[in-house]
Amino acid sequence: MRKYNDKHIPVLPQEVISYLIWNDNGIYVDCTVGEGGHTALIANKCPNSRIIGFDVDFEVLELARQRLEGFGNVTLIKASYVDLPLILKTMEIERVSGILADLGISTYQLKAEDRGFTFNRDEPLDMRMDLEQTTSAHDIVNSYSEKKLADIIFRYGEERFSRRIAKSIVNNRPINTTRELVEVIQKALPPAELRKRRRHFATKTFQAIRIEVNKELKNIEQLLKNAEELLEIGGRLAIISFHSLEDRIVKHFIKNSKFLKQIAGPIKPSEDEIKSNPRARSAKLRVAERI
Ligand code: SAM
Repeated sequence: MRKYNDKHIPVLPQEVISYLIWNDNGIYVDCTVGEGGHTALIANKCPNSRIIGFDVDFEVLELARQRLEGFGNVTLIKASYVDLPLILKTMEIERVSGILADLGISTYQLKAEDRGFTFNRDEPLDMRMDLEQTTSAHDIVNSYSEKKLADIIFRYGEERFSRRIAKSIVNNRPINTTRELVEVIQKALPPAELRKRRRHFATKTFQAIRIEVNKELKNIEQLLKNAEELLEIGGRLAIISFHSLEDRIVKHFIKNSKFLKQIAGPIKPSEDEIKSNPRARSAKLRVAERI
């Protein structure tokens, strides 16, 4: 196991439970188990239900396995929620009562050594949530064309200086570590811009590359389609997003769906929650019901 001395605190715990659970004997799917925080809350709240948890990261899933050992009604599966219909079919499950997705990365991925998600430490450029996947941040940074990199940094990072950063990346290849990438981004940004930024100047570029590595936005669209297909009438879909690109996809999909009706959201964490769990700061929960 990698060195890791932290613990992921589930965001919006009461809100998730009160909206997601409506049938004490139902089947619930946690699409993004992570360290198992939300899964444990669901299992505690309704011991007579069945809970199926997915995560693509076998390392984090091992932490969840240890945490959830005592619950006989939880099944954990190392798979992408994109494959939910296929996997439920093999389990002979046609419909479920609730689907939860807590998007973004887990504290484990951010803090465990050498996962390459953070600009705060020097690590190999990786950023894969699924360690069995072949494409990593290293491949993208070192092989994509300047134009493709600029597009990704602009679209997924909403970075105004995407062209300059892409050019700097291409001119400084090979880039092997997170620190090298941070230095390349720093060189590309005008000094006035560097002084002006409230958040770390590498935040947007790192976000963009992470989204590209893990196909995060494409996956959310598939998740929403899966929810339409798999929820029973009255079933609930609860999605927690962490930035506007994710929330926009969720909001528009639900608005245009014939099968889902938004019943709550966007719900944001209280000041107290943010104080005790700063990672919750940008979280937004939307809940839809299958009609
Ligand atoms: N709710 C969890 C808890 O309370 O411990 C934390 C979830 S964490 C924010 C998000 C998790 O989603 C990560 O562990 C990540 O590996 C997983 N993930 C991301 N994309 C996924 C996908 N397509 N399928 C399954 N899991 C995914």
